[in-house]
Amino acid sequence: MAVRTINQIQEKAQFYQQPQFTVNQSLMYIDLITKKECSLITSASLPSNFTYFIPNYTSQKPLLCLDLDETLIASSFKQGGDEDFQIHVTYQNIDNTYSVLKRQYLDEFLLSLAEDFELAIFTYSIKQYADKIIKIIDTHNLIKYKFYREHCVRNKINESQFVIIKDLTRVGVPLDRILLIDNTKRVGEWQPNNFIWCESFYGDRSDEHLRTMLPRIKALGKVPSIYKELEKENEQ
Ligand SMILES: [Mg+2]
Repeated sequence: MAVRTINQIQEKAQFYQQPQFTVNQSLMYIDLITKKECSLITSASLPSNFTYFIPNYTSQKPLLCLDLDETLIASSFKQGGDEDFQIHVTYQNIDNTYSVLKRQYLDEFLLSLAEDFELAIFTYSIKQYADKIIKIIDTHNLIKYKFYREHCVRNKINESQFVIIKDLTRVGVPLDRILLIDNTKRVGEWQPNNFIWCESFYGDRSDEHLRTMLPRIKALGKVPSIYKELEKENEQ
């Protein structure tokens, strides 16, 4: 573990006061510690030479992309609380400790959905952080694919604001057979017929949202077209 110097702490403090970009208020995520930002784009169409995240998806099951933070877990810098586990992340010579709470019913949720879907994590967090959490919460090795911040795109909406989008057309799975679940509505708005919004989890031990969502998600794993099914729902 690297030890933080006074200079590094001061640099970090300055960093926090000067966000590199501002996103829509529904996703107030300030990109502070990574230079590997997601691509800045101005058009939803893909370049002709684009390499899909999964170039050869051959599974018979549809792909379920699950957000991580505030969807499956809650994480904070707060120490000594009632967290389930802690992780230590060193990035650019700065150490951080995160206390993490698993959302209630998470193990059963993943086990049950793996019967109907291939599972992926699609997070705006950086790999160094997300991988440590996934390794602990994925006790049965059910998560086959992982997409991180560099897989998201930043859509410029005016001179100073960006919106983070999780563009499912980049994954390489037809829209009939892919679903995203996320606590941030904005990230799914390019493919609303492939998106289910879920309530945010901040650590409430009485939260039941994963359990209540499960039957609806499992049912979508069995339909001929997730896109058409949610299109019908969204038109009502
Ligand atoms: Mg989230």
